[in-house]
Amino acid sequence: MRCDKCDTDASFEVKASGHWLCDSHLLYRVEKRIKKTIRQWGLLSSDARIIVALSGSSGSSVCLKVLNDIIRVNPKQSLIAVTVDEGLGRDMIHAKGLCEDMGIDHHIILLSDSCGIDPKDIAKNAKDEGIHPCDLCAKLRKKAITQFAKEHNARAIACGDDMDDELSKTLLTIIKGDVTGISFPGPIKKDDDMTWIKPLIDVPSAELDLYVCIKGLSSVKWRCDNSAENRMDIVKELLDDLDGRHPGTKHQMMSSVKQMRDICAKLDD
Ligand SMILES: [Zn+2]
Repeated sequence: MRCDKCDTDASFEVKASGHWLCDSHLLYRVEKRIKKTIRQWGLLSSDARIIVALSGSSGSSVCLKVLNDIIRVNPKQSLIAVTVDEGLGRDMIHAKGLCEDMGIDHHIILLSDSCGIDPKDIAKNAKDEGIHPCDLCAKLRKKAITQFAKEHNARAIACGDDMDDELSKTLLTIIKGDVTGISFPGPIKKDDDMTWIKPLIDVPSAELDLYVCIKGLSSVKWRCDNSAENRMDIVKELLDDLDGRHPGTKHQMMSSVKQMRDICAKLDD
């Protein structure tokens, strides 16, 4: 099969449209979408320090790579990568290696140091609060990174949330009966006096996995022992199944999510 954009061999089918792309055009497609989101929403100011929440996943690795490509040519902008070690076996080697390869300052925050919770108590504390351990971990991670960003005078924290994350979070708010959460999706969120930016929300996870593969970026898929029956993972599996049977579902849903966001914004005015 030939690439629909040039005359070389294709390596990827965009199932939603039926187009085939070669490695170069897949990279171009991913970067173009990320840069469009950054431009449209003004995610980067010309003189700011950005913290990248680097979990080591494909999304966070691509986020770091693309932001670094943009920021390194501007002496007024800077980038610091941060990985939170929950003490639950997260692989730090890939995140560390990626930052070394790109010459980016990398910090590891121990969750037990920043929040004073012993890793083995996370599941018990979550049960006491009536929430899933992954939700408690996410809350504590966010708090730790926000604290780090404030201490380092950062303007924003960038994370590698992609289209699948955005759709799953929106669906989950509906499943949980918390429809107010629908108004929040989007590439900018202000929380606890800090701005979180999500430049990758228009790119599906599968394309990011291919991007790191083609570019040879270090990334890791890690699943915590506490993550069994995590509803976010279950919703993602459902979406994958639906999109596999009906290609284009994720893009159509993303379009609906954006329309809902616009309607909520108008209601707030
Ligand atoms: Zn091509």
